[in-house]
Amino acid sequence: MERMDYRLLLRSHGLRATGPRIAALKEANQAGHITVEELCKRITAQIGSVSTQAVYDIVHVLTEKGLMREVRPVDHAAVYEINLHDDHHHFICNHCGRIQDVPARDVECELLAPAEKYGFSVEATEVTYWGTCAECRAKMKDGAEPHAVQPQAA
Ligand SMILES: [Zn+2]
Ligand SMILES: [Zn+2]
Repeated sequence: MERMDYRLLLRSHGLRATGPRIAALKEANQAGHITVEELCKRITAQIGSVSTQAVYDIVHVLTEKGLMREVRPVDHAAVYEINLHDDHHHFICNHCGRIQDVPARDVECELLAPAEKYGFSVEATEVTYWGTCAECRAKMKDGAEPHAVQPQAA
C-alpha cells in the first residue's frame, strides 16, 4: 500500500483529515507495527511537535473507526498497524515482545468452522500465537534464560 489516499480514507470513515491523523496513518503504514511513543517521535519529525497524549487520542480514534489495529504483547507497549482488513494474524514473543505477521493463507481454514456451531457469522478472524521467537530461543540455548511471562486473559 504505497500510494494510499489518507485524506480520503479518513473522510470516508467520518473523520476530519487533520495533519496529525494523516501523519499517523502514513508513519504506521511505513513502520508496519509501531508504538505510540515511536509514532509520536515520527509525527513530530514530520509535522512538528505533538504530545504523547494527542497521539494516544489519534490511535484510539483510528482504531475505533477500524483504520488501525491494536496488538498487545505481554509486558510491552501496545503497537498499532494500519488495518488493511487482510485478516492477517500475529505471532507474539512472550519474552521480547517481537511481533511477526502471519498471512491468513498460512492458517488452516478449519479455524473458521466452529462459528457455525455457535450460530455466529464471521466477518473477521484474529489469531494470536503466543510463544518464543527464534532470537530468544537462540539466547536460551546460550544459557541466558530470558524471563518468561504468561499471557494474561484480555
Ligand atoms: Zn523474542
Ligand atoms: Zn500485523
